[in-house]
Parts: sequence; C-alpha cells; structure tokens
Amino acid sequence: MERVIIIGGGPAGLSAGIFLCRDKIPTLIIEKFSPGGNMLLTEIIENYPGYPEGISGFDLAENMKKQFLKFGGQIKYGEVEKIQLRDNKKIIKLKNGQILESDVLIIASGCSRKKLGVKGEEEFIGKGVSFCAICDGAFFKDKEVAVIGGGDSAVEESIYLTRFAKIVYLIHRREELRAKRYLQEEVKKNEKIKFIIPYIVKEIKGKEKAESLILQNTMKEENIELRIDGIFISVGHKPNTQFLNGLVKTNENGFIIVNEKMETNIKGIYACGDVIKKSLYQIITAASEGMIAAFFAERYLENLVSNINLRS
Ligand code: NAP
Repeated sequence: MERVIIIGGGPAGLSAGIFLCRDKIPTLIIEKFSPGGNMLLTEIIENYPGYPEGISGFDLAENMKKQFLKFGGQIKYGEVEKIQLRDNKKIIKLKNGQILESDVLIIASGCSRKKLGVKGEEEFIGKGVSFCAICDGAFFKDKEVAVIGGGDSAVEESIYLTRFAKIVYLIHRREELRAKRYLQEEVKKNEKIKFIIPYIVKEIKGKEKAESLILQNTMKEENIELRIDGIFISVGHKPNTQFLNGLVKTNENGFIIVNEKMETNIKGIYACGDVIKKSLYQIITAASEGMIAAFFAERYLENLVSNINLRS
C-alpha cells in the first residue's frame, strides 16, 4: 500500500514527486522506460528557466530524477495495464501481473507520437521509418530524408537532421506551417531543407527498407514519387491513456479533463502534463502542473489520514 503513486516519470510526474517527497510524503513513480519522458527526445532545451546556455533533454531529465531520488522518492519500472477503485483506494494493475494500491494517484503518463496509418509505415519501422530524429538521425549521414508534419516538432527535427543528412524534405499538408514563428524563420533560412507543400504521404515503398514515398498533392490531382533513405514522422501526439478504461473523464481524443487543481472527476485522482487537455504543451507547463497536482493531492491526503501516518 502506497500513499501516492504517480504514473509516468516525465517533467510533470517528477515535479509532482519532488514536491511530495520534499514534504516527506512517500511517493512511488511507475515508469515504463526511463524517467524523462519526451524530454529525452529533445536535444537541447533553450526555454526552460535557469539554463542560460540551454540544457540537453537528457541532462534535464537526469537532474529531475536525481532531485526526486534525493528526497527519498522511489521508481518502479513497469507498464500500467488497468486502474480500478476500491472504496477510496486506487488499485493499479501492472502488465507483469503485479497489483499496487494507493490513496492518491497522479496520472502523468504523457503522450506518444501519432502514426500516419499508411501502407509501409509499420513494415519499415526501424528500416528507414522513424518517430525520433534525436534517436535515429545519426544513421542518415549524407543521406536524403523526409520529415512529415508542419508543427514545432517537425520543424525542430528537420533543422536537427541537417547536421547529418544531405537533404531534408519537409513535407506538410498545408501551405502554412503550424510551427512557432521563430522556428519557421529558422527553417526557411536553412539551405539543406526543401519544402514539399501541400502534400500528404499515401504510401511508403521499398524492398528491405523504405526507399521512396508516394505523395499526393492536397490542392490538385497530382501524385509524385520521392526517393528517400529515411522518413521521420512528426504529425502530433496521442495521450497515453489506454489503461483508463473509461474510469477517468477524457475528451474525444483521450486527453484527461482536469480543473485548475489538476483534479479529475474521481476524488484522489489527479492528472498533469501532456496527458491532459490544455492549450500549451511545454516542459515548463508540465512541470508546473505536476507541482499543482502535488499541492492539492497533499491537501486531500491531509484530510484522509492523520499527520503521523501521512509522513511515515
Ligand atoms: P502538432 O503541433 O499537433 O503538429 C502536428 C503537425 O502534423 C501539424 O502540422 C499537422 O498538420 C500535421 N499532421 C497531423 N496529422 C497529419 C497527417 N495524418 N498527415 C500529415 N500531416 C499531419 O504536434 P507537435 O509538433 O508534435 O507538437 C505538439 C505540442 O508540443 C505542441 O503544442 C507544440 O507547441 C509543443 N512543442 C513545442 C516545442 C517548442 O516549443 N520548441 C517543440 C516541440 C513540440 P496541420 O497543421 O495541417 O494540422
């Protein structure tokens, strides 16, 4: 039996954990891979306060993890399969069959990359199809790669990939990019980046690995075939909420609905970070939501258990 269980060790989960552990409330984070979440996919973070020279996503994740462990936080590696309620208790079932219980549950499970759902995508994952430029970019030295998408991630990844690739094709379905203005200005200045706009991917073709893309113009009847060595898919994210089973209220896209205290519709269950419905998905917003969730979770616990029991 745990006091607080946090699902997910990204910036939201770790910030919540740091706040609670520093207040001597025993806290366990359940993490699927490695603490840090999508920060680990970001090479350099330049807009997180306190790092005038920027900091790598890996280092920021490591620092947050160390801070959490320093205050006595615990991390369990595993994947959550299901959550249930028994009276006030939250029951968390892991995929390895283990069952955990807690008074408070904070869902900070973040989100994952969306897929295109086109022919060849699944088949060539790891064989030219990638969802992470930071992880796989170096395999494409002097090659020609395509990035699909027009948001911040696609633009940042295109710029990053020019370190390795000879040409980066940025393929977007509309004439306007969705990315922030400063990123748009940077991408347009980069001579290695060629825009293929407005096109969508219809198929990824190849034999042993991805070799070309069939692209369809979204404004007129026209299909083209583009030879590539790799394709980076960056068309947004979907929330990691498969384990909810309808227990907690979400919007139509699966993002958890919370109030300003990060409370869900279930007492004692909070959510924060990229898994919630909100208008700004940034590391700093995730971290501050984690802190808000922790603050109100602590108040909830204080009404539930005596002070002595709470901090032991
Ligand atoms: P996003 O902002 O949702 O952008 C997704 C892009 O993919 C859009 O351009 C969208 O086109 C396109 N798209 C979606 N489905 C598609 C499909 N089936 N085929 C082709 N294109 C498709 O996602 P994101 O770039 O991953 O960013 C997610 C959040 O993280 C955002 O809030 C972003 O601001 C934040 N973020 C911030 C930074 C930063 O501040 N440096 C860096 C990375 C991410 P349309 O534009 O036509 O819809």
